Amino acid sequence: MDRPVPAHNRPRRCVFCGRYYVPDARTSRVQKACSRPACAKARKQSAQAVWLSKNPNYFRNRYATYVKEWRRQKRERTEKENERNGG
Ligand SMILES: [Zn+2]
Repeated sequence: MDRPVPAHNRPRRCVFCGRYYVPDARTSRVQKACSRPACAKARKQSAQAVWLSKNPNYFRNRYATYVKEWRRQKRERTEKENERNGG
């Protein structure tokens, strides 16, 4: 009589290429794609897209708080240097 196959050893279908694969035992709960390089890349990109959709203001806030401040400081430095050089 066959022993039941543990859940983490059951073949699953890759959400990207549609092929069946046996998930890694450690990541089987979250793994949705096979380990082919193309699918790993697609998985990372889709994870990034999901993350971005959850954090839509991340880059905007980053610009507002970091880049803007950096530009202001740079402008002040440049103005001071210009003064020192006689304009
Ligand atoms: Zn795949």
